[in-house]
Amino acid sequence: MIQHEASDVVVIGGGLGGLSAALRAAQLGLRATVLERGQDELYLCNSRFSGGILHIAQHNVLEPADQLERVILDATLGEADLSLAKALALDARRAVGWLAEAGTRFIKVGQIVWQQHVLAPPRPITPGLDWKGRGPDVTLRTLEAALVKLGGRLLRGTAACGLLERDGGCVGVEAVTSDGRQLQFPARAVVLADGGFQANLEMIGKHITAVPSRLKQRGAATGVGDGLRMATALGAAISPLNAFYGHMLSRDAFTNDKVWPYPQLDELGTAGIVVDGAGQRFVDEGMGGVYVANMIARLPDPLSAWAVFDEAIWNGPGKDARIPANPHLVRGGGTVLQAATLTDLAAQMQVPVERLMLTVEQYNDALAQGHNEQLQPRRTSTRIAAMPVRSGPFYAVPLCAGITYTMGGISISADARVLRASGATIGGLYAVGATTGGLEGGSGAGYVGGLIKAATFGIRAAEDIARALR
Ligand SMILES: Cc1cc2nc3c(=O)[nH]c(=O)nc-3n(C[C@H](O)[C@H](O)[C@H](O)COP(=O)(O)OP(=O)(O)OC[C@H]3O[C@@H](n4cnc5c(N)ncnc54)[C@H](O)[C@@H]3O)c2cc1C
Repeated sequence: MIQHEASDVVVIGGGLGGLSAALRAAQLGLRATVLERGQDELYLCNSRFSGGILHIAQHNVLEPADQLERVILDATLGEADLSLAKALALDARRAVGWLAEAGTRFIKVGQIVWQQHVLAPPRPITPGLDWKGRGPDVTLRTLEAALVKLGGRLLRGTAACGLLERDGGCVGVEAVTSDGRQLQFPARAVVLADGGFQANLEMIGKHITAVPSRLKQRGAATGVGDGLRMATALGAAISPLNAFYGHMLSRDAFTNDKVWPYPQLDELGTAGIVVDGAGQRFVDEGMGGVYVANMIARLPDPLSAWAVFDEAIWNGPGKDARIPANPHLVRGGGTVLQAATLTDLAAQMQVPVERLMLTVEQYNDALAQGHNEQLQPRRTSTRIAAMPVRSGPFYAVPLCAGITYTMGGISISADARVLRASGATIGGLYAVGATTGGLEGGSGAGYVGGLIKAATFGIRAAEDIARALR
């Protein structure tokens, strides 16, 4: 075992959460080391793959803090940890300002209120993966360069595998390099920023779906739950692990890289109906695409869901997103079934004709009478307006659930200190970004915003470490 020289802070993971923590720590005069499992110069992570929009539950991060706090609580059906919601609402503005000072550039996308801070240059409006040289990639390179300039370091090909413990607190990290060397990194504080457990199929199988291989990894698939495992071993509390941030995608995403991570099909699916292989609705589409993706994942067969809609939806909400399904799903080669009648559509989908006709009829009638909340399952329309599926041609798109990152995880305080079930903190141990829980998820799979959460709590962790070490 090779012992490295001691750092003030060792950060596990070089995504936006980890780099924000490390750079802020270095700015405050601390010696910071980032351990990153990826070996490539441009190692993959969700931050690098992301769309680069810094927002809070689709609101501008510059809105007043009390307003943002309400927005977070609305998005999470009041289930978000209040202290985390308050901290994010208060400091999101500061995080964006700090990123800009560190050299990150932002652009605004038109008048869209929640897209006023998009990492520049933005990805083009094309289907499929396209991250190299785009805003999030440039941002990570910028933050790393700034870290190195201040004497910090990022060690690629170095995977943390355990935490060093003394008197119940954390005093460093054990790691293994890609060529098999075992290393110890003594540290006065450790920040877990390894990005969630979405790519750990065993854990996904335990907490999210019985058939994890039937979820599409809609990200870099680098989060394998190491942080969660290491924190648990030191006595950390864990928030419920059953929700994920993701979207409805074309089922073709398993075989066609042109249809993921964009276009995501939320606008299309939630304007009309989503049915299972029996032609029946099984979810409240009005709760939004992230929720629907979670419910698709819970079906006995997550590869049996369909979005069913008509021409008005295809040419309306179908064109609404930044990279909309219409026309990008077709351009990317994704399946879009079309038929003049519902009978013909059901035949193409190979779902029971009578059942699909009844589902559509009941849905349309409930909408016409304003009784959609009485449908089974109900169809709320406070978040997303319901549109009838009435005028041909009719359409169906085979769906899958794309999992981007897990929303449950390590319990933290507002300063990103890792908590025990008793509420006490674990000395020297912090966690930020998608490896943490408490803010997002819950019964409505409430999505707040992965990038702003990662940056804000990264900064807060570093500032708390600096205070504690002084
Ligand atoms: C396609 C896509 C689009 C998105 N769009 C947006 C958006 O527009 N807005 C938004 O707010 N969010 C978006 N997100 C979500 C956002 O990217 C994430 O929530 C955020 O980047 C998480 O940052 P992180 O630092 O926690 O994790 P990551 O960026 O995933 O970084 C974690 C790092 O830890 C490393 N690691 C893992 N285990 C170990 C270990 N044992 N030792 C060392 N290193 C380890 C990984 O290799 C990885 O580099 C998007 C994500 C994707 C995939």
